[in-house]
Amino acid sequence: MSDNLPIVEDSADKFLCVRCSRHVKTCCQTSEVYATPGDVLRIAEFTGRDDFYEYRVPDDPVHLQEDGDPIWIENVIRPDGTRRVLQRQPDGDCTFLGDAGCALPLETRPLICRIYPFDYTADGLRDELAHGCPMELLPAGQSLLQALDIKRSDAERWHKQLYAEVLTERNANEMRANP
Ligand code: SF4
Ligand code: SF4
Repeated sequence: MSDNLPIVEDSADKFLCVRCSRHVKTCCQTSEVYATPGDVLRIAEFTGRDDFYEYRVPDDPVHLQEDGDPIWIENVIRPDGTRRVLQRQPDGDCTFLGDAGCALPLETRPLICRIYPFDYTADGLRDELAHGCPMELLPAGQSLLQALDIKRSDAERWHKQLYAEVLTERNANEMRANP
């Protein structure tokens, strides 16, 4: 989900996300995207809407396992097993995915979209990247991070912001329960 994603012209063939979208289902078509309370505010401010998210039990039960990250489970997963995620089209596409890629500016996209493909826990980014990108489409001589034009320093900043906003979930849930 690089900032280069919105480019679809032939001249953009060099961008990995464009080639990815032409060959396989992309992360924007297959992922359930958790949105923090901060993500919701930023997206609502940009779109003027607040109907772009819902609460769902994760399709993949792996998202309910602690996996060394109790902060995530305690704050993101609500007592009924649901979490806040972006709505998707019936075919699985994110509703913000258009013909030209993500309709949201980079600084408005959910934090987990911006951090991808870094993997992480509350303690920080893991050394190993997530495995969702089609490595077979990487240009010769380029690393995945080079091809996606994502810097570890940016991902570290977004990771800090992500967990700060995850910790606001409890207040958001309490306010909903006691309006
Ligand atoms: S899966 Fe990877 S290469 Fe494909 S669109 Fe997402 S970030 Fe880009
Ligand atoms: S918000 Fe944008 S980057 Fe994130 S899944 Fe949706 S289309 Fe992809």
